[in-house]
Amino acid sequence: MKDRITRDDFARMIAGAAALIREQHAMLSQLDSAAGDGDHGATMVRAVDKLETCFGAGGAGDLKTCLGEAGWSVLGVDGGASSSLLGTFFSGMANAPACGASMNAGDLAGIFEAGLAAVRKQTKAQPGDKTMMDALVPAVAALRAAADGGKSVTEALHDADSAARAGAEATRDLVARYGRAKFLGEKTRGHQDPGATSMSLLFEGFYRGLEGPRDARGDAAQRGRGDGATR
Ligand code: ADP
Ligand code: MG
Repeated sequence: MKDRITRDDFARMIAGAAALIREQHAMLSQLDSAAGDGDHGATMVRAVDKLETCFGAGGAGDLKTCLGEAGWSVLGVDGGASSSLLGTFFSGMANAPACGASMNAGDLAGIFEAGLAAVRKQTKAQPGDKTMMDALVPAVAALRAAADGGKSVTEALHDADSAARAGAEATRDLVARYGRAKFLGEKTRGHQDPGATSMSLLFEGFYRGLEGPRDARGDAAQRGRGDGATR
């Protein structure tokens, strides 16, 4: 249980997220085949490769520098809507004043809020529109609520993971109003949104990465469960 985290802890969170995305990329592409062009898994793998390079052995610098570089490098992934929004998310985080050497749950919430604010400048999608925002918005709100309630960083990330997962699962019954999927209208009902699903995997990975090595398969394997892709 951590009350404060460092840049290296953040790097562990990124590594945890990257591992889950790599493990689940086929499922993400399958979801995107149902309501898009089937590239979401591949795009997310390229995005997490960039994130890891910026934070891992090849990357240097403090958290703010790494987040800024990560954002730009994900923006450079030629992956359509999601890589552009995800790159914006990390670039936005780099602008948070709380981006320091040692951060508590409130600082971390501030960093994610800055990322979300940047994403909101790029898209008008709200929770309920069946996009990544259905996972991202409740996850960031849960982080803030946990921090305000005096919880540790670990607990706050756990709450964010749960909120992101619930938000992603709820997209199954929604109709897409943004992105490629919007052109399919009612046909998108019954399929979990790929971007919301990958966002929830990122938050699960952040939590697992901070917690240390564990068997993450059990939870991740549930993502997209019950999706109507076979219908
Ligand atoms: P593309 O649709 O360009 O092929 P991806 O397949 O990688 O990109 O990502 C699709 C996901 O991106 C969707 O499931 C949705 O969550 C998210 N998305 C697409 N357009 C928007 C938008 N305008 N606002 C928010 N999220 C979006
Ligand atoms: Mg796609």
